[in-house]
Order: sequence, then structure tokens, then C-alpha cells
Amino acid sequence: MVRALRRKKNIAEYELDFATPEVQEILGSLDFASVIFSAGDRIEYYSSSAITLGVIREEKLVATSVLNLVRKARRTGLPQSGHIEVPRGPIGEGTRKLFAKVTFFANHDATFAVFTDESEAERVDAVRRDFVANISHELKTPISALRTLSEAVTVASEDPQVNKFAFMIESQVERLSTLVQEIIDLSRLQDTDPLLDALHVDIDEAVDEAIDQCQVLAGTREIDIIRGPLVKVSVVGDRTHLIMAFHNLIENAINYSPDKTRVAVNTIATDKIVEIVVIDQGVGISDSDQARIFERFYRVDPARSRETGGTGLGLSIVKHVIGNHGGDISLWSSTGIGSTFTIRLPIADDSLDDGDQ
Ligand code: ADP
Repeated sequence: MVRALRRKKNIAEYELDFATPEVQEILGSLDFASVIFSAGDRIEYYSSSAITLGVIREEKLVATSVLNLVRKARRTGLPQSGHIEVPRGPIGEGTRKLFAKVTFFANHDATFAVFTDESEAERVDAVRRDFVANISHELKTPISALRTLSEAVTVASEDPQVNKFAFMIESQVERLSTLVQEIIDLSRLQDTDPLLDALHVDIDEAVDEAIDQCQVLAGTREIDIIRGPLVKVSVVGDRTHLIMAFHNLIENAINYSPDKTRVAVNTIATDKIVEIVVIDQGVGISDSDQARIFERFYRVDPARSRETGGTGLGLSIVKHVIGNHGGDISLWSSTGIGSTFTIRLPIADDSLDDGDQ
């Protein structure tokens, strides 16, 4: 893996004690490319990945724009970083985008540059985004065609058998449609960092919206959703994702409870943390299942989950959303008594009281 520029030299002949074989061994085993410069921009060492990334070609520095960073690091004594582009090959116009970080070590009079490949990350990102977009398009189109057809059959037929089958098709389509949406949501969640592009989210408002979205379902089961007092705080993050997480917990609380029971949604703010607590009087979850319900596709009772249109993805979506927001989720449950899911999220430093949202 490791390649020294002047292989013929003995170790003793290296001008930099910095570029010892041990250091080279370590650098060569790391994922990024590295180059060590001595005074006068002379290259003392480069890792083999510096060739792979096109930083070095035929023992010469191709990524010459890094020298600006090298000189500045040496002059100021401060670490420098920046984006640079290198040609993909000796001919052609293709370039590779690299991110370079440069540090000057005064006691060795050496400057150490590391390079990571941004093109590859961008390419993988683009492929993944395309894939998600394609899945949603490819799967949603036949689903909506099937939905329209089955609705047409229901309307057109007098025969109860046909109606029964049409109804079965319709509910399967509905299930498939939810599943597709949740797979897409989950894969997007795994890809994004809501804190990088975040806004203040009013917790009371987000909880209210999630409750509103579940009122129709609760109504059909004659379940009362009881809302606790407001907290008047905000968190930093993605409003849609947070509403989706709260919604999933409330929907589960309804789905896994007998008719005519109550679901309570409480919010509690302490010094730096806000808790969103969803309590039901439902079937509860056994200790052994509690450890697994946040896994993708895990369902305690697949038949019941299918009946309610569950996909087994709801709680893993919740876990991802909350994790992405720097929070956590915990569960208390007892079979036959009910379950309490508690989400904890860090309150925004300049929360609602400052009028900033
Ligand atoms: P599903 O779409 O099946 O509801 P989830 O990921 O939301 O998937 O939940 C996983 C499993 O956890 C459910 O199938 C159910 O068995 C159990 N579960 C979730 N919430 C509750 C609850 N409030 N009460 C009882 N069981 C629950």
C-alpha cells in the first residue's frame, strides 16, 4: 500500500524524521490520500491513494493548487482546507473534485496534506437520489392504475363476489402504497441530516398537527385523544419529519388499542429537553418484543398489523427521525395494560420564548 517517493533511499537518508516507515504504514492504510511536503514545497512522501486520486502522477504533484494551501499553512501556522479539482487523466477534460486539509508541523518543518474524494461521494449520492425517485415513480404508477381499476369494478358490478374481490384488491393496493411510501421515507431519512438545513419547529404546533391527522382514525374507533398542556418551546429540525414521527406513535396507540379507550399525548419541557409522551390503554408489548419493535419490518402480531394497514416500518421511521434530531425514544409497556412511548428532544437554544421561529 505504502509508496515512498524515493524508494531507493535508505530510511536514514530521509530528510524528514516525520516520514518514518511507521508513519507511512499508518498513512497508507487510511482511506484518504496523503502527501507530506518539506520546505520549498518538496514532496517527501505520498501514499499510493494519492496516485489513485490523481494528486500525484509520474512522481509529480498534479494537484498544484494545493500548494496555495500548503504555503498558507506554513506562513500562518494554521490548518487550511479547501476544494480543489484535478484532471482525471493526462488527456480529456474530466476532473475529480477533492477536498484538501493541510496542516503545518513547525517542529518537523513539514506540511501534511490529506485529500478526500468528493466526486465519489457526490456520485453515490446522486445515484441513490435517482434510485429513490425511480422507485417511487415505478411503483406508484401501477399502484394508482390498480386502485382506479378496482374502484371501477366495485362501482360497475352487482355481483357480491366481484365486489368482494375488488375490495380485497383495493385494500392490498392501499397496503402496497403505504409500504412504498414508508420505504421511500425511511431511505430518505437515512440519507439526510435535518440539522444541516434546520429551522425552529414549534413543538405544540407539530404535536397538534399530528393529532389532527389521526382524528378521523380515532373517531372510527371511538377513541378519545387527550392533549396535555402546551410547552411553548421549539426544537431545531425538520417539521415534516417530526410530525411524521409523532403521527406514527399516535396512530400506533390507536391501532393497538381496543375501541372506546383513550390515548393521551403529553408534552413536558424541562431545562433543555422536551418530552413528547404518547400513552395508550392498548394491548401492550411483552418485554421480549419491546427489544425488537424498532427493527425494520418487525411486528408482534403480523396479522393484526396487516389488518390495520401496518408495514412494520413506522417505529423504525420514528427512531431515525428522532435520532437525526439528536434525541431518543424510550418505551414502557405492560401486556394488557398499555404502552407509553416517550420521545426526548433537545430544546433549541433560542427557543420560542425569544420569539424566534
Ligand atoms: P406497524 O406498521 O406494524 O404498526 P411499527 O413499526 O409502527 O409497525 O410497529 C411495530 C410493531 O410494534 C407493531 O406491529 C406492533 O406489534 C407493535 N406496536 C407498536 N406500537 C404499539 C402500541 N402502541 N401498542 C402495542 N403494540 C405496538
